[in-house]
Amino acid sequence: MSVTPPPVSSPTVAEVPKMGAYEIATGNFNRAADLIGLSDEWRTLIRTPFREMKVEVPLHREDGTMTVFQGYRIQHNGSRGPFKGGIRFSPLADEQEVKALAETMTYKTALVNIPFGGGKGGVNCDPRTLTEHELEHVTRRYVSRIHLILGPNRDVPAPDMGTNAQTMAWIVDQYGRQHGYNPAVVTGKPLELGGSPGRAQATGRGVMLTGLAAAKDHLGKDPNELRVAVQGFGNVGMNAALLFAEAGCTVVAVSDVSGGYHNPDGLDLDAVVRYKNREGGDGTLAGYDNGGVEYVSHADFMGVDCDMLVPAAIESAIHDENVDSVKAKLVVEGANLPVTPEADQILQDRGVLVIPDILANAGGVIVSYFEWSQNFQQYRWKEEDINARLEDIILTAYRDVIAEKARHDGASMRDAAFALAIARVQKAEKLRGAL
Ligand code: GLU
Repeated sequence: MSVTPPPVSSPTVAEVPKMGAYEIATGNFNRAADLIGLSDEWRTLIRTPFREMKVEVPLHREDGTMTVFQGYRIQHNGSRGPFKGGIRFSPLADEQEVKALAETMTYKTALVNIPFGGGKGGVNCDPRTLTEHELEHVTRRYVSRIHLILGPNRDVPAPDMGTNAQTMAWIVDQYGRQHGYNPAVVTGKPLELGGSPGRAQATGRGVMLTGLAAAKDHLGKDPNELRVAVQGFGNVGMNAALLFAEAGCTVVAVSDVSGGYHNPDGLDLDAVVRYKNREGGDGTLAGYDNGGVEYVSHADFMGVDCDMLVPAAIESAIHDENVDSVKAKLVVEGANLPVTPEADQILQDRGVLVIPDILANAGGVIVSYFEWSQNFQQYRWKEEDINARLEDIILTAYRDVIAEKARHDGASMRDAAFALAIARVQKAEKLRGAL
């Protein structure tokens, strides 16, 4: 581990994935399809997206220059309900990535058994380099080009990497200009516009719930015996870290784009959050040092000594070059597609339990479902009811996966989760008469 202080400006090198998202999605699908003996025809039908839209998103920058971004909305499968999935603003967003993430949503909603299909959107802009006004402009331009395929019973976006409740507020407004105000067209909205209590923490809460359940079953450990490291300090990673700490775990390391911050005795997360949100700061943890905190480079982060490792940043974060350094016995996928298939196999061979993305990070879309339901009912539920229902749904899915794993000798949690999800999508397709 290095003790060199992190650079002050945000490096972007950490964001270049080692393997393409679509390759990872293909690996995940094929293993489970083999397990359940899915025919080639069904493989093609299930994997092929229902519809892919690619649009230009021009922006007149405040400095007088003009940029044209590419925007995507890919509707992967809608056999179980309206397409559902986030919109990501990231320089790496392209057709292959968005397609892989849309497909991942199909299996996520099927696994946790909520009445949605899967979709995803993206714009290849870097939100860190845009002003608030420019971000609003990009959002509105993008929505004005894809609005015809959206709708509360058609396709319901949500936040993802680089977008947040404010982005969703602009989407409600822009969609409303063309179709009339309807908050159910998007989830993850601010509370004032029909958002749901508990939505912002929901993905992190699901990570915490599945992580603690697996720690008990797999490691025989209670929360106060667990040392947790979380890669990524955005909406998912930050909330997961806070909730793990609240449950009694020792959070020994967190990281963001600026690098990792490690304290074997446990980080003071309130101080970390205060530092991130400091007045005049750049929103990153660059330069964080609160006594006893050691800087860890991106390359070394996965090797931090801990019981549970939570990749909650980008895809292919754990790959063939760093997988051998992983010391954790439990990996909980807060991000989508954070482990490459090769690394996944190595972890499995070493007896490391991996809780797959479509289970571990499904808390967000589960509470999106509650938000959508509340919008239709025009009635707000209480946060404690939402958290209790989230817990019920995600732990039911967790137990379903354990039961499915037991039915297939030697299957991983991922294979079992995908097998269940693919079978549910296939059943819905058959009932609707697809083939
Ligand atoms: N973007 C989140 C995900 O990947 C949430 C999707 C949603 O709530 O629709 O699961």
